[in-house]
Amino acid sequence: MTFYAETFINRWDRYPKQQPDGSYVAVQRTPLSYWLIAQHLLGRVTLGAYALDTQSRAKWICLDADTPNDWSGLLRVAQNLLRSRDQIPCYLEPSRRGGHLWLFTNPIPGSVARRFAKHLLTTHDLPQVEVYPKQAELRTGPGSLVRLPLGVHLLDHKRHHFVTLEGTPLAPTIREQIRILANPLRVPAGYIEQQVAAIPEPQQVSPTRRFQAREIIGDTPSERIKNSISVLEFVSQYVDLDRNGRGYCPFHDDSHMSFGVNTEGNFWHCFAGCGGGSVIDFWMRWQQVEFTQAIKELAAQLLPPIR
Ligand SMILES: [Zn+2]
Repeated sequence: MTFYAETFINRWDRYPKQQPDGSYVAVQRTPLSYWLIAQHLLGRVTLGAYALDTQSRAKWICLDADTPNDWSGLLRVAQNLLRSRDQIPCYLEPSRRGGHLWLFTNPIPGSVARRFAKHLLTTHDLPQVEVYPKQAELRTGPGSLVRLPLGVHLLDHKRHHFVTLEGTPLAPTIREQIRILANPLRVPAGYIEQQVAAIPEPQQVSPTRRFQAREIIGDTPSERIKNSISVLEFVSQYVDLDRNGRGYCPFHDDSHMSFGVNTEGNFWHCFAGCGGGSVIDFWMRWQQVEFTQAIKELAAQLLPPIR
């Protein structure tokens, strides 16, 4: 059990606990313990595991498929890894509609883990599959988390276990599965480094400069700025958002994913009281500048130069 914990747990100073509605709260008053992890495995509490340690290192990568289609894509990834010349080990954990593909390694920088995982997904044409860790480096809060395997999911009250490529249980009992995951086969760090080194550098383009032929309408500079880019698109460059547009608020020490972008209303909002609004409001807070200065900076980023 202690080795099972060591496989997945990246930090002990705090832990995420699943709520009956499927969301997580961060517990910071009491540290994580082996006793709590035993309770998780007994199905008495459901815990999450943070994807990065306090030094922004990862010892696992979790690829998260949300649909049956993406799940079959992950099966393809697993097949190619396991049956490749290097026989790269990975573990399949199906869930309600999709599932997780886990790769274990000795601790590597979160940035390396993400580049490796992203490359794997690109080469398998799986743009919708999410990569955990979601952050290359921690800035605010503890970052992303994944449900700790072999517990009970509080949304469907099921215990999801690991399977083989053929879909049969990895081991007949949960106890035996725990034993396997306590000492998983790990991807050699050298292999990951070699793969990452071979990825061509992405072309450096400024993500915000996009004033090609498109005309940006509006009577005032602030109106034109707001019309030049959606709040979601703009904010995503600075905050890691999940598929529901939620993330850790960059404006306070957030462990509850209080920050969100409402795509219909085209505004951002922090439920913990940091305010919300347009891209201009975001930039004023982000840069800690006054309105006029924010307009000046955003116009330079987002609007075509005045002729
Ligand atoms: Zn906030």
